Amino acid sequence: MPYKIDRIMEIANRYDVPVIEDAAEGFGSRYKWQVLGTFGRYGALSFNGNKMITTSGRGMLICSDKESWREIMMYATQYRESYPYYQHEKIGYNYRMSNICAGIGRGQMTVADSHIAHHQHVQKLYEELLKDVIGIKVHFQPTTGEYDSNYWLCTMTLDPNVKVRGQEDAYKTVVTGAVGGSEGVIHVADSAMTDCQPNANVEAMRVALDRAGIEARPVWKPMHKQPVYKDSSAYVNGVSESILRLECAYPQALT
Ligand SMILES: *Cc1c(COP(=O)(O)O)cnc(C)c1O
Repeated sequence: MPYKIDRIMEIANRYDVPVIEDAAEGFGSRYKWQVLGTFGRYGALSFNGNKMITTSGRGMLICSDKESWREIMMYATQYRESYPYYQHEKIGYNYRMSNICAGIGRGQMTVADSHIAHHQHVQKLYEELLKDVIGIKVHFQPTTGEYDSNYWLCTMTLDPNVKVRGQEDAYKTVVTGAVGGSEGVIHVADSAMTDCQPNANVEAMRVALDRAGIEARPVWKPMHKQPVYKDSSAYVNGVSESILRLECAYPQALT
């Protein structure tokens, strides 16, 4: 979903802050007709298997001048200087895309528009089918005309007062199957709950949808709530936690 990019750029430019756009899932979304990933000094796209188009993995970095491109490619190609032997003046990485992956990507480009159209179609279905359901709020793009979302992801919130059948049993057992893209490589969790998680009715809804063959999952847990960053400082106001709980932030939906 595009954001108010011109506001961000205006502030960033005023204070000389370089903007790196994480447009990983934003491939094909536009703001005022300009594609995401092309607003900041650099933009990043993901071609992971779950994205709008895929090269099986990896992605793309977008930059606007030859100078940066040269330096980026140096870093992505082990920072090898032009000698007949390996000569490194800086630490480089092995980050370039293989020609096989790039070939897959070129093929994927031919279906990009239809993939985007399909995601937008699915979003419309959710908007239409859930419009009269009290307590569920499907997020949609502002209708002001500047925003053109690829709807890679359809999101919704659930009012905490809405009771979902089975929610008394939510989080009673630890998840044992594969989670998302982890392909079965998981630790067995110590407990079924953590100190920051979606509300019980949201979890019950996820389980019910799963039984109906519809994959759904909570949005991302905030970084400052990840145990690995528990000793890091965080500047927060509670909004990101409430988004993870997937609470309905629009009480008027209950009226
Ligand atoms: C998918 C995604 C990533 C990670 O991309 P990978 O190619 O899987 O590393 C990062 N940021 C956002 C916003 C994403 O959607």
